[in-house]
Amino acid sequence: HTESVQRLSSELSALDWITEPQRLARLSQDFAWFSPVLKEALQGKRGDIAVRPRTEGEIRQVVATCARLSIPITVRGTGTGNYGQCVPLEGGVILDMSGYNAFGWVRDSVGRAQSGIRLSEFDNQARPHGKELRWLPSTYRSATLGGLFGGGFGGAGSINHGPLAAPGNILAVRAMTVEPEPQIIELTGAEAMLLHHTYGTNGIVLELEVALTTAVPWSECIATFTEFDAALDFASRFSSAPGLEKKEVCFLGAPIPDHFTALAEYLPRGCHAVLVIVAPHSEAGMRTMVAEHGGHVSYRKSAEEVAASNKTLLEYTWNHTTLVAMKVDKGLTYIQSGFDPTRNLAQVRALETQLAGEVMMHLEFLRTKEGAFNCSGLQLIRYTTEARLNEIMQIYRDHGVQINNPHVYIVEDGKQNNLDPAVVQMKHRFDPQGLLNPGKLRSWMKPDLAPQAAEPATA
Ligand code: FAD
Repeated sequence: HTESVQRLSSELSALDWITEPQRLARLSQDFAWFSPVLKEALQGKRGDIAVRPRTEGEIRQVVATCARLSIPITVRGTGTGNYGQCVPLEGGVILDMSGYNAFGWVRDSVGRAQSGIRLSEFDNQARPHGKELRWLPSTYRSATLGGLFGGGFGGAGSINHGPLAAPGNILAVRAMTVEPEPQIIELTGAEAMLLHHTYGTNGIVLELEVALTTAVPWSECIATFTEFDAALDFASRFSSAPGLEKKEVCFLGAPIPDHFTALAEYLPRGCHAVLVIVAPHSEAGMRTMVAEHGGHVSYRKSAEEVAASNKTLLEYTWNHTTLVAMKVDKGLTYIQSGFDPTRNLAQVRALETQLAGEVMMHLEFLRTKEGAFNCSGLQLIRYTTEARLNEIMQIYRDHGVQINNPHVYIVEDGKQNNLDPAVVQMKHRFDPQGLLNPGKLRSWMKPDLAPQAAEPATA
C-alpha cells in the first residue's frame, strides 16, 4: 500500500500522522504476547502509518480517502486487547481513536461518550451524578470504551450486571461506514450488539450510550484460606448472597497468590485467596461468611484509602492476575473458560484434582448474559508446548467446560465458531469493501460459511 498511503497522508497533511518506526511498531501491537502461540503468529505485523484524529470530521476524511484508495484500516483504542485484535495483518492505516474522547452526558441511569474515552475518565465523570459504569475491566485506567465494546467482555461489576453483551447494558452505538461517502448510523438494542466483540471489523464506533448503576464507595478486602474447597465455597456463596452488595469476587487457588509480591504481607505462602470489592454496609456480613468457611480477612482498604493510594485490588483480578504472575514467572500463559452454572463447583474441583501443578485455578465470579450465577476461569498454565496447551483445553471441554480460546486471533475461533450470520450482514452494510481489520472475520473471507452473506441488513 506504500504509494496509496503516501497519497493519503499528503492529501490530508493537516492531520496528526505517525510514521516513526518505533511508534508505529508499538501502535501495531497489543497484549497478545500473553500467548506464546499468538506472539509467534503475529510477530512483525505492522501498519504502514498511524493517525490520531480528534474530530468526527477528521475521522471522516481518513475513512473516505481510505475507501477511495482501498487502504485497510485497523481501528485502535489503547491496545490493551489480548488476542491481537488491533494488530494489522495486512498493513494499511492504524486509526488511533484515543484522541476522540469527549465525555457526553449522564441522564438518569444512562451515559454517553465518544468511543476513545478512557473507562476511568468515564467513571470519574459519572460519579458526581451518583452513577458509575456497570463493568470495569482491570485495564480501566487506560482502556477505552470503544475498545471494550470492540474487543472486551466485562469486568468488575459483571457479578451484578453480567457481561457487556447482556441485554440492556449497551443502549446505543453511533458508527461510521467505510465508503467514499461515509454514512453515520445509530443502532440500538440487539442491532447495536452486532458490532460488539467483532474486533473493529464491522464499522467505526464513534459514540456509545450505556446503562449505568448507582455509585458506591466500595471497600476492597482479601480473604485467605488454607483449604481450596473452603475458599471456593465462600467465593460462590458470597457471590450469590442477595443481601450482600459487591462488585468483584476473584478466586485465586494456590500457588497464584504467591506471585503477588507487592501484597506478600497479606498472603501467607501457599494460601488460597479471594479478592473482593464490597459495599461498606455489606462488610460485616461478608466477614461472618469468611469466618464460617474458616478464612481470615487479611487486608482491607476503604474507598478513600484506595483513592488516596491510587492502588486497587482490581489490578490483581481478571487478566491482571496473569500480568502480575507473568512478571514473576515468564513461563506462564493462560486459558479462558466458562463453567456450567448448574455444576460449576464440581467441574472446578474435578479439574483442580486432575491438573493441579500445571494449571492454577483463577476464577471470576459473575452472572451470565442470561442472569445465572456462575464463574469463568482465567487459569494460569505452566507452558510447555502448544500441543500440551491444546490438550489441556480439550480436557476442560471433556469436562463440559466451554473454552474461549485466547490463543487465536480470528473472531470466530474465540467463539467456538458461533457467529451470528447477522454480524456478516452488518459488515456488508458498514464495510462493503472489507477494509476494516482484514483477516480477522473468517465468515467474510469465506462467504460460503456465512449464511445469506450477500443480503444487506435492512434495519
Ligand atoms: P483495543 O485493544 O485498542 O481494541 C480492542 C478491539 O476493539 C480491536 O479489535 C479494535 O479494532 C476495536 N476497536 C477499538 N476501538 C474501536 C472503535 N472506536 N470502533 C470500532 N472498533 C474499535 N477485558 C475485559 O473485558 N475485562 C477485563 O477485566 C480485562 N482485563 C485485562 C487485563 C489485562 C492485563 C489485559 C492486557 C487485558 C485485559 N482485558 C480485559 C482486555 C482489554 O483490556 C479490554 O477488552 C479493553 O477494554 C480493550 O480496550 P482498548 O481500548 O485497549 O481496546
